[in-house]
Amino acid sequence: MPSLSANSPDVGAPFYAASVTTLSEPLTRALGPKTAKALEAAFGMRTVGELLRHYPRRYYTRGELTDLSSLREGDHVTVLARVDHVGTHQMPSKGHNAGRAEVIITDDRAKLVLTFFWRHPGGRYIIKPLVPGTVGMFAGTVSRFRTRLQLVHPEYEMLPGAPPNADLSPELAAEFAAEMIPVYPASAKASSWMIARAVKTVLDPLDAGEDPIPAELRERHGLAGRAEAIRAIHRPLDQADLKRARERLKWDEAFLLQAALAQRRLAAAAMPAMPRPHVDGGIAGEFDARLPFTLTAGQVAVGETIAGELACAYPMHRLLQGEVGSGKTVIAIRAMLQVVDAGGQAALLAPTEVLAQQHYRSVTGMLGPLAQAGQLGAAEHATGVALLTGSVGAAARRSALSDVFTGDAGIVIGTHALLEEQVQFSDLGLVVIDEQHRFGVEQRDALRAKAADNRPHVLVMTATPIPRTVAMTVYGDLETSTLTELPAGRSAIATHVVPAADKPHFLERAWERVREEVTRGRQAYVVCPRIGEGPETDDTDDYPGEDDFGSVDMTGGIPRGIGETGRRQPLAVLDVAATLDAGPLAGLRLGILHGRLHPEEKDRVMREFSAGEIDVLVATTVIEVGVDVPNATVMVVMDAERFGVSQLHQLRGRVGRGTAAGLCLLVTEAQPDTPSRQRLDAVAATLDGFKLSRLDLEQRREGDVLGAAQAGRHSSLKLLQLLKDEDLIGLAREEATTVVSADPQLTAHPALRAAIDELLGVQAEYLDKT
Ligand code: ADP
Ligand code: MG
Repeated sequence: MPSLSANSPDVGAPFYAASVTTLSEPLTRALGPKTAKALEAAFGMRTVGELLRHYPRRYYTRGELTDLSSLREGDHVTVLARVDHVGTHQMPSKGHNAGRAEVIITDDRAKLVLTFFWRHPGGRYIIKPLVPGTVGMFAGTVSRFRTRLQLVHPEYEMLPGAPPNADLSPELAAEFAAEMIPVYPASAKASSWMIARAVKTVLDPLDAGEDPIPAELRERHGLAGRAEAIRAIHRPLDQADLKRARERLKWDEAFLLQAALAQRRLAAAAMPAMPRPHVDGGIAGEFDARLPFTLTAGQVAVGETIAGELACAYPMHRLLQGEVGSGKTVIAIRAMLQVVDAGGQAALLAPTEVLAQQHYRSVTGMLGPLAQAGQLGAAEHATGVALLTGSVGAAARRSALSDVFTGDAGIVIGTHALLEEQVQFSDLGLVVIDEQHRFGVEQRDALRAKAADNRPHVLVMTATPIPRTVAMTVYGDLETSTLTELPAGRSAIATHVVPAADKPHFLERAWERVREEVTRGRQAYVVCPRIGEGPETDDTDDYPGEDDFGSVDMTGGIPRGIGETGRRQPLAVLDVAATLDAGPLAGLRLGILHGRLHPEEKDRVMREFSAGEIDVLVATTVIEVGVDVPNATVMVVMDAERFGVSQLHQLRGRVGRGTAAGLCLLVTEAQPDTPSRQRLDAVAATLDGFKLSRLDLEQRREGDVLGAAQAGRHSSLKLLQLLKDEDLIGLAREEATTVVSADPQLTAHPALRAAIDELLGVQAEYLDKT
């Protein structure tokens, strides 16, 4: 039964009204155990500061009633409306004194029914304050009774201005005296006004303490004081007051986070790392001489930056981002060889078995005799390359482990199997993490911890372009390099949407195109969202963690809420392969690749495809990252609307890798002008990965962007929007860096230091991961 929180004895009772409240004060002290417990259960908040960071979701302006015609069945709503009519009825069938009230509320246009029941005459008290003509807030879940929408036993709170018999407490009258009425994110156990009242209780005696943002900085940016902003966001006098408050509190979020990250960057720079300077006459030089192409200007520049950082006595922490095919792997290999030349080992962590094997093949291939230490015909300074994945057989694994332990293997490539305890390095100097978005940060740290005394240098590579603000926030203590150009001679990828439902002959044409390419000696991919038959393990067997930024979407997941294709199951690799084999692509050599295959089988299929022994590879998104077969020129994505924007961009990157033009066909049954179709059109319209990743982000909540740790209830970013507040974040980062560089311990800024400590206390977990 909902109870009228107006009658809750707990909140605002004088007993608990401390003379001064601070932000760190526990809610149990400030509000009493009952309310504190309810708030903790509902939102996980424990302190006054946490309660005050529970900002209103919106504000009702007095006199502006909720548009009742916009309500939909099933919505949990809090509406502002006027009581229009109250009708009570006996219900003899339910008992002697049972009754029912139907209260009609209105926004002066539409109406909504509130229904109340009672068994005893005393139960009628519940409708007593509902006097026609008075205005109140009503909260509940919209249900349907016959043709009408209703709220059954809603919680409610009448606003002052009601007739004298409306039984309003004086506190309540004061509570809603303001022009703008806050509406809080609420739950069944903690209504918006219960929160409003709790906020009021702590706000009145609040001493917000010293302002963490230095006064000089506040002045320069025209920011409100913190105490004032906290008051104003909960009880704004008007829109201008609210705007100023939000601006200031956004600054808090951006500035504190950036200051914390700046401190971390400084601390990281103070850690010891073994310098691994370039050595003349080593493998690195020979590798460069053997390269069959010229490095792009971007590759050279980034390479120099990295070479310089590897030579430093503190660890490199660098994020290298670059479009699919921009040549990141070469940069990584050159960095690894520099470390090997300097006597250390380098580990390359790949997200999937397929990718680890491919890296192994390409590294050993590119190095040739340079990688055959201990073998006949090896080059003079040759090193060894070890492969460690879950599927490496026992004997090979033992020998690999031993090479890693002794240092015979200068380069170690693997999946998360590298993180296992038995894997011990002789002298790990560099960790390269390819395609970052597949990895949880714990993995990154686990590998980092394998270096003996010194911290290894770390290079993180991602092909999912990360907007600048996200890089600054999520990867805030990594320095970022970006490859902006593709190697010359790369031909563009043409992308077309194939509307399979309304234009079936387009799909026929697509299969003809595949045939034509194969006839010319080229190869093709056909990508499906499902494997088919048996459990949909997808391809996640290789993916240890999904708790980091990019794992958001790119793991082959099917975007939520996309249903324009109706109830049909998404197309499956096994079915599509069979259909193609029997029909449109009969006679071609088809191969199948998905996550349920045995790793050896996966490797065999990839090798055959690389060697041109398979014409068409029908696969899940297992081929999404990194797979590099330059001879593949066409990709057909089935049920393309099932994939995320960035994911499609990744996928098509598989067919732009050679000099022949790539073609990507996005097959969909999504109707024109649906959001799904618009996303596909967007992918077809641009090859700019940054643009697409923005588009992707715009469709997500911030919490998703920041990953699980941030999405939790303690997220420190409440107001800041990573995309919209780009300028502010950039500014805050500059200012924070200036303040922290001048005074790393923040001795002159005790309030700032305390606020950062609080932030770190709350989300140490999150920051530890960046
Ligand atoms: P990424 O990992 O950034 O997607 P890769 O490093 O796999 O890209 O490079 C894609 C392909 O381009 C590889 O076949 C690689 O050998 C080739 N490549 C890299 N750099 C160059 C270059 N400067 N010129 C020509 N080809 C290059
Ligand atoms: Mg790559």
